[in-house]
Amino acid sequence: MAQGTLKIHSENILPIIKKSLYSDKEIFIRELVSNASDAITKLKVLIEKNEASISDFAPEIRVKIDKEAKTISITDNGLGMSASEIETYIAQIAFSGAEEFVKKYDTSNEKDKIIGHFGLGFYSAFMVSKQVEVISQSFNTSNPSSHFVSDGSNTYDLNQIDTQPIGTKIVLHIDSESEEFLEEEKLESVIKKYCSFLPHPLFVGENRINEKDPLYLKSPQDCTDEEYKEFYQKLYPFEPAPIFWIHLNIDYPFNLKGILYFPKVTERLEFGKCFTKLFCNRVYVSSDIKELLPEYMTLLRGAIDSPDLPLNVSRSYLHMDKTVRQLGLHLSKKIADKLQQLYTSNKEDYVTLYKQMEVFLKLGNLQDEKFYERTRDLILFENSKAEWISIQQYLDAMKEKTKSKVYYHIDTSENHFLQLFKDQQVDVLRSTSPIDSHLFQHLESKMPEVKFQRIDGGMDDLLTSQEEHQPKEELLQFAKDSFKDHQVEVELKPLSSQTIPAFVLIDEDQRRFRDYMRLQKQDFSQDLFGKKKFVLNSNSPMVSKIEEIQKNKPELAKELLAQLYDLSLLSQKELGQDAIQPFLNRSMKLFEALLCEKN
Ligand code: ADP
Ligand code: MG
Repeated sequence: MAQGTLKIHSENILPIIKKSLYSDKEIFIRELVSNASDAITKLKVLIEKNEASISDFAPEIRVKIDKEAKTISITDNGLGMSASEIETYIAQIAFSGAEEFVKKYDTSNEKDKIIGHFGLGFYSAFMVSKQVEVISQSFNTSNPSSHFVSDGSNTYDLNQIDTQPIGTKIVLHIDSESEEFLEEEKLESVIKKYCSFLPHPLFVGENRINEKDPLYLKSPQDCTDEEYKEFYQKLYPFEPAPIFWIHLNIDYPFNLKGILYFPKVTERLEFGKCFTKLFCNRVYVSSDIKELLPEYMTLLRGAIDSPDLPLNVSRSYLHMDKTVRQLGLHLSKKIADKLQQLYTSNKEDYVTLYKQMEVFLKLGNLQDEKFYERTRDLILFENSKAEWISIQQYLDAMKEKTKSKVYYHIDTSENHFLQLFKDQQVDVLRSTSPIDSHLFQHLESKMPEVKFQRIDGGMDDLLTSQEEHQPKEELLQFAKDSFKDHQVEVELKPLSSQTIPAFVLIDEDQRRFRDYMRLQKQDFSQDLFGKKKFVLNSNSPMVSKIEEIQKNKPELAKELLAQLYDLSLLSQKELGQDAIQPFLNRSMKLFEALLCEKN
């Protein structure tokens, strides 16, 4: 009987480990099964090199629960360990590594996250066990079998025992707080989560856990759409089918295989969360890997498997890591290529998909310079003819008419205006998402000559007509007086259409600034933006009528102008909450007056 002292210097390391790892203690099974799998892989290599002689090697890993004894055992027929190997690899390295680790991270509040991220290998067994046994027989049978027992304190027992089959058996004596893992269903579900793609046969009790190789290992030419969808279902059982995918197979400058899926966007996009699952040599590691990906890519899903990603370093360091940066760059290029290919191969299909991924594409353009260069012309907007075009196509088509201005409208809000632009054969793009205003700003900074303008954002020459029907100076003066107590400046302009009596001109830059402030939920006073410009159309018959009324019934004319102003705001989606009630009251009053007059 031999006893040893663990080469660690803190006697109370176990409570710290248990506490730090508590939230993620299920990873013990991932660590121990991976060790078993590694041991088998190593033995296979030795057999191939003729350094180990085992006939008909049939690798397997078995996980068993003994409810009565309250143990879980993990048995593999891998290369095994001699007594001195147990001392070196288990007693010393694993434990001292753990100590160093805890020392390093005990003070930082990031420790919980980091630990769960890559586990502590063998030591993680102590998160759920009060005692751990290792029974091992090396493939090199000149070494006798060994039995190692530890309760996680700094002493252990290591004894020679009767000859065992080649391989290693780990027996965990489950502590009272972790008895949930003694339930077969629970244990099996955890093992499935982490080890579904393990390369060697894995059983829990009699059930085989891993069946197929993960699809990302197969060569892309040999994968069918059905297989891609099936694999997605396996990763995300309750999600609708993805809309397209990118199969990754990178050898240089780092190794990575995987499949990235573009999910069907159902509800609101969830930012700040990451869904892509990271594997390391077919063992699931985590899906909380947002530090590894540029933010916009966290919208994607799928599996990536790379032995080269640095999982065991602190997260702030990850940002600076070269491999991580290259990963982002590489994926960004792959995604851009895929989108380009979708666009080129069938524009109609692309447009259908586009609606699902426009936010992704736009975010990517804002956040990633290279992605912008590659995909800016893949961002499309619907124009007045219901065609989907890029900004560049708009500029090319409109350069005679609008110079370098790009007109847009939001949904249907400035509908009555659209006609005005149509009459002038000036195209207008439809902006559908709030991100557009950031995108426009971004594009303006990239192309200084280009200016984006909402159709009610400026009084451009093309909106006014050369001929004016009546001067209406008197009306202008009257209107100015009517609004003098409000933050409203009145102008009289001959618009090129008679059907629009008036509109409120909202300066593009001011509106963007205001929308930005709103988005930031900042309080601001409307005065910050100066007076609103109310433009009366001197070519509108309605305006002429008001001018007439003003001569005999100035009070009514004043009400009518106020009503016209509110209606303009309303149709431009700019009527404020507190203006609604006065507007309704006035509407009723005018309505009543109209009824009385008729009868
Ligand atoms: P890592 O797997 O990162 O090396 P671990 O703490 O998980 O760290 O394991 C330490 C070492 O113990 C392994 O590198 C391996 O040499 C040895 N080991 C652990 N489990 C087994 C096993 N089931 N069979 C053979 N060797 C093992
Ligand atoms: Mg390990």
